[in-house]
Amino acid sequence: MFTLLFVACLLFGVLIRLYLASRQVRHVVRHRDQVPAEFAGRIGKTSHQRAADYTVARSRLTTIGLVFDSAVLLGLTLLGGLDAIDSWLRGWLGDGLVTQLALIGVVASLLGVLGLPLAAYRQFGLEARFGFNRMSWRLFVTDMFKGLAVSVVLGLPLIAAILWLMRTAGSAWWIWGWAVWAAFNLAVMLLYPRVIAPMFNRFSPLDDPDLVARIQALATRCGFALDGLFVMDGSRRSAHGNAYFTGIGKSKRIVFFDTLLAKLNIDEIEAVLAHELGHFSHRHIFKRLVFGFTMAFGVFALLGWVAGQAWFYEGLGVTPSLAGGNEGMALLLFFLVAPVFTFFLTPVASWYSRRHEFEADRYAASHADPNQLVSALVKLYDDNAATLTPDPVHSAFYDSHPPATIRIGRLTAAGARLPSLTPESA
Ligand SMILES: [Zn+2]
Repeated sequence: MFTLLFVACLLFGVLIRLYLASRQVRHVVRHRDQVPAEFAGRIGKTSHQRAADYTVARSRLTTIGLVFDSAVLLGLTLLGGLDAIDSWLRGWLGDGLVTQLALIGVVASLLGVLGLPLAAYRQFGLEARFGFNRMSWRLFVTDMFKGLAVSVVLGLPLIAAILWLMRTAGSAWWIWGWAVWAAFNLAVMLLYPRVIAPMFNRFSPLDDPDLVARIQALATRCGFALDGLFVMDGSRRSAHGNAYFTGIGKSKRIVFFDTLLAKLNIDEIEAVLAHELGHFSHRHIFKRLVFGFTMAFGVFALLGWVAGQAWFYEGLGVTPSLAGGNEGMALLLFFLVAPVFTFFLTPVASWYSRRHEFEADRYAASHADPNQLVSALVKLYDDNAATLTPDPVHSAFYDSHPPATIRIGRLTAAGARLPSLTPESA
């Protein structure tokens, strides 16, 4: 029964994704030769066509990845891949926790290696073709090893702790497991800006005095204290621009990608930051954190239950050894298979995220100049070759950010309702 449910959901999920991808490609191709009226004069036809081609190429690559990943998942589960790796390791290492840890390590390495060709093609084929790649092969390989080192140093102790709890803490192990997981996540969030991110990028203090003054004024106006303004050398890897915030409480650390600073003028940067501050003011990050931790509690409860059910393993092509201990197998199966079922929640998550984007845009429109935000968005859509004409159904299903026309349309409306701007931005 469970096998049937799993296969049905996997198949249905793949079909939905293929359908949405084909809708997206057809829609973008159909509108390839016509810049939408709202953007006429702001985005050239060549740019518009480049965005269309980039969107189509990315969609095709994603589809290939999807089919590949589904085949790998079937190979590992129903076709006996996990079972074979498990019995090989058991024969070699016995029934201890080390075997369970090794099982996770072997499967994670296998998935990493299988994913490499597509990741390399994405960077050096697709991104390079559209002029976005700034990475050398050397940097790609260095990144890979650094990423591996970080996952081993951080991930191994976490997984070992959870496996140990599963074996020793009794039937309520999952509550402890969740607590360890939550503490680990909070620690990583604190470590990330100061320890992990600097391993991959250089951060230097923002040294443009005019921009610093403008951002300070904006932050004061919005009631935030700044814990530092930094520029990150994002251009080492990609031409795509971005900005982000880190920090907990009222004290914020702002990080600009150098690629963003190169593209936007001072007024536009202020408007983009006002949008980001809007996310903070509406406590979006905090809400997502609480939501994520609550969801994880439910996920751990479910894992705690299915880990002791023989049908869960047998239904996915694995011979369970519930008495001999198969904690690693339980974790692996659960986290490999869960996305097959949670995929159907994607539109809800996307809708929730778009709602937050609208709220942040409204906030930006009242604390900075909405026209500058529109102007910044148009530049970013253009530079990132983001399509202005996504398929509405595809967009409603996947997009964490609202489509360009709707987003800018709302901003224009908000701007019209806000004739008096703050003195700084007027
Ligand atoms: Zn946003």
